[in-house]
Amino acid sequence: MDSLVIAMDGPSGTGKSTVSRKLATALDARYLDTGAMYRVATVWVLRAGIDPSDADKVADVVETLPLDIGTDPAVEAVTLAGEDVTSEIRGAAVTQAVSAVSAVPRVRDILVRMQREISSAQPRIVVEGRDIGTVVLTDAHVKVFLTASPEARADRRNKQNTTEGRGDDYQAVLADVQRRDHADSTRAVSPLRPAEDSVIVDTSELDMDGVVAALLQVVSERTGAMQ
Ligand code: C5P
Repeated sequence: MDSLVIAMDGPSGTGKSTVSRKLATALDARYLDTGAMYRVATVWVLRAGIDPSDADKVADVVETLPLDIGTDPAVEAVTLAGEDVTSEIRGAAVTQAVSAVSAVPRVRDILVRMQREISSAQPRIVVEGRDIGTVVLTDAHVKVFLTASPEARADRRNKQNTTEGRGDDYQAVLADVQRRDHADSTRAVSPLRPAEDSVIVDTSELDMDGVVAALLQVVSERTGAMQ
C-alpha cells in the first residue's frame, strides 16, 4: 500500500514522540509533531504580550502565526518568522501557557487546517498529538493511543529535562503532568481521549523499541488487510 497515515495520540510522557519518530523512520514515512505547533503558537502569543487566558486576543494573534515546521523524523526543525525556536518551545514559560492557548477553539481551527495541509502533502506520515485520530485525521489507516501512569510519565519527562539541562525536580514535573492532563482532558473543544477504533498501548513498563516493534506488527496487519 502506498499511502499510509498513522495517528499517534496520548498525553505527554508516554514516549509518544520517541515512538512516533522511530515508527516513521522504520516505515520510511514523514513525521509531524502537532504539539510543537501549539507550542510555537504559544511563543507567538507570549511575545505579543497577550494574556494566554484572553481567548479572543490569543486567537487574533494566532491568525498571523508565521510558523514553519519540518517533517523529517530525524531532525527537529521549527521556525517562527524564520527564527529557530526549537529549544524555546520546550521552556517552562511555554509549557505553562500552552494548555490555555490550545483550548481556544479558533486556535485549534487554524492549526488543524495547517496540520491537514501538511499531512495531505505526504503519502506516508506519522502525525503525533492529542486529537489526531478523533478530529484531525479521522480517516487515518492506523490510530494509536499511548497511555502510562502519571508517575512513569513524570519520571520520563524529568529525566529528559535533566539530560537536556532544564533542571531536576520530579515533584514539580509530576504536578505539571497532572495539571496538563486535567486541562487537556476536560477542555470543551477536542478533549484528549482515544478514538473508538484506536489501538491502546500502556507504555508504563515497556521500553520504546518494544512499543515500536509491536506497532509495526499492527501496521502490517492493518495495511495488509486493506490491500
Ligand atoms: O505534545 P506536547 O506536550 O508538546 O503538547 C503541548 C500541548 O499542546 C499539550 O499539553 C496540549 O495542550 C496541546 N496539544 C493539543 N493538541 C494536539 C497537540 C498538543 O491540544 N494535537
